Amino acid sequence: MSASISSEFQSTSTLQCRIHRGCHEIGGNCVELKAQGKRILLDLGLPLSDDSTPLIPPYLDLLNSDESLLGIFISHPHPDHFGLLQFISKPEEGHSTIPVYIGQEGLGILQNSQLFTRNAGLDDLNLKPFQPGAVFEVGPFTITPYRIDHSAHDSYCFLIEVAGKRLFYSGDIRAHGRSAHYFRDLVLNPPADIDVLICEGTRVGHVEDFRYPTEDSVTEAMAEEFKHTPGLGLAWCSAQNIDRLVSIYNACRITDRTFVIDVYTAEVLRAVSRDDIPLPGRPGVRVYLPRSQRRRIKQEEAYSTSNKYHSFRVYPEQLRATPSKFVMLCRSSMFAELAEADGLSGATLITSLWSGYLKEEREAARLNDLRAMGVRQTHIHCSGHATVDELKQFIAAFPNSRIIPIHLDDREGFKELSVNVELKNDGEWWGV
Ligand SMILES: [Zn+2]
Repeated sequence: MSASISSEFQSTSTLQCRIHRGCHEIGGNCVELKAQGKRILLDLGLPLSDDSTPLIPPYLDLLNSDESLLGIFISHPHPDHFGLLQFISKPEEGHSTIPVYIGQEGLGILQNSQLFTRNAGLDDLNLKPFQPGAVFEVGPFTITPYRIDHSAHDSYCFLIEVAGKRLFYSGDIRAHGRSAHYFRDLVLNPPADIDVLICEGTRVGHVEDFRYPTEDSVTEAMAEEFKHTPGLGLAWCSAQNIDRLVSIYNACRITDRTFVIDVYTAEVLRAVSRDDIPLPGRPGVRVYLPRSQRRRIKQEEAYSTSNKYHSFRVYPEQLRATPSKFVMLCRSSMFAELAEADGLSGATLITSLWSGYLKEEREAARLNDLRAMGVRQTHIHCSGHATVDELKQFIAAFPNSRIIPIHLDDREGFKELSVNVELKNDGEWWGV
């Protein structure tokens, strides 16, 4: 560590904070807190933008060579909040392993996904999954997770207390999903005497292109679409967006269609303890094994993964026989096999994810091909993040706090939300 960095620590403030990434961009959240020579991190996220170099923020000692880093607290299982965990020290590297705290069901989603996605390295971590209601004493820090509504299941804000100083970190939040009650409870009964609120600002400065304000409005619009679709209903969303899977499932129930999920999605859902999710075995849920997942299971000889869904499976000939009785969860990699199976006549595709993703070259080309086959496409989506009005409600719950924005690109716009807003820069230490 250089002399100039050491001297920055000589502040008299009990609790020091440094945001490594997120002051100037959406994604890559990483907040370091330091007190009495000990440190914790809130999130360790992968930057979303390709031009973020270096990947590991400068000065962030992930090898923990002085063993001052006592824990990493992950707010929710989105890559821009946990994606750099693969770079922390491992036991075989001769350092003490840093405990990683993450909500139990959020962790379960990541673990159950590993066969099909690239969340590599989770198994080597010193994982400390927690349940709602947990409180942690870690060195001088007391950390209390607060459940919150977001497009990731099992999302949390964190309250950090050190010797009379209190900092509250929002993680990612919204107030219009299927867990909106957590947001309402928090703003009605917020933790008192917060000195600093670090608050996300994703949607500040972004033109509202969402015609659907809530998950329930997404369900209604999807049901309307399925009603007027003579063939197969196709819905494209993230398998890890549990709220959205429920929205699609509800639309299926309204229109008396069976919801066909894939094996990967079924595995994700197995980690979630909610009554409203489309688990195989619940009414109107079937499981399809797409080619790519079949290949993966074969490669890894993970036959037990697909075998457990054997009695719920549905096959292309069944879909072809009565397409109007089904809605199939899909992604662009499945378009070609659906076309080969002759299952797309009269079909409608509902895209239900961030529209920027659909503009990427490969996805746009596949969508074009699908439309060329006569498949209707419509976009029905609502945001995973708080609207500006919701952010105002959140901030108003902490009237005496300094407000530091994170996870945003419109810093000046965020300043309009409160007179208590202070802008910080990535990499600078400041006192709480
Ligand atoms: Zn998120």
